[in-house]
Amino acid sequence: MSCAAMQEQNPIVEARSVLASARRILVLTGAGISAESGVPTFRGEGGYWRNKSYQELASPVTFKRDPRLVWDWYLMRRQTVNDCRPNAAHVALAKWTEIARWTRDVQLVTQNVDGLHESAGHPDVIRLHGSLWRNQCTRCGKEREEKSLNYGQLPVSPCCGALERPAIVWFGEAMPTKPMAMAYLTCLACDAVLVVGTSGIVMPAAEFVINAKKRGAIIIDVNPDDDAVPAHIKLRGQAATLVPAILA
Ligand code: NAD
Repeated sequence: MSCAAMQEQNPIVEARSVLASARRILVLTGAGISAESGVPTFRGEGGYWRNKSYQELASPVTFKRDPRLVWDWYLMRRQTVNDCRPNAAHVALAKWTEIARWTRDVQLVTQNVDGLHESAGHPDVIRLHGSLWRNQCTRCGKEREEKSLNYGQLPVSPCCGALERPAIVWFGEAMPTKPMAMAYLTCLACDAVLVVGTSGIVMPAAEFVINAKKRGAIIIDVNPDDDAVPAHIKLRGQAATLVPAILA
């Protein structure tokens, strides 16, 4: 079926049929999939905290100047996410992936740092931007899981006794090599991409979709708002309603 014909059909039915016949599927999620769990997207909340933009807060320069400020922002975000639960979209994706993987390659790549895919029981998550729930030693780079919601004294690493930072990829920093390579290989090989809750302008994730499309993959996009995702099938609505409907 041509892409133009697809647009004229019921997009949920079309999305289902594309995913049913695809052998290799990339699922790419962004902040929007967690919005209905209560985790704000940056764009949604205006992108400011204590009069600082999120670009300024998520920055190695700001951390060097004022680690307490940056840690307080991340602790506030940990507290927010700690009160949130995976929604129907996270749960449906986790269950569907578990079953689909018996016969097909399905790989989830997320830009999210909240850990809600993992809480939903997702079998395998590639995290492009790190995790809210991990600390990293500023001296040797070693990471550890850390769930504290408050720090009287800023955390120091057990390995080097050096200040720890959130294990998150900040603006201007290199992307982590292994997740990037795995995500890139998936986007080169896939024949369908399901994009959920991302604006399509955050690099490099946006590029994965463009590359997959150039190589012939069908792109399905779930978002209540207009976005920059170059999709063949656009489903305009909330993730927690549409994702379970597509994967039913
Ligand atoms: P983004 O560029 O991925 O934009 C979020 C998108 O979600 C928007 O296009 C919005 O229209 C859409 N959306 C909103 N509600 C939705 C819903 N109910 N269902 C489906 N889509 C919905 O992300 P951002 O907020 O600009 O954040 C940029 C980066 O910051 C992310 O890539 C991530 O690394 C980080 N971040 C992570 C989280 C998280 O882990 N939950 C939250 C905020 C920001």
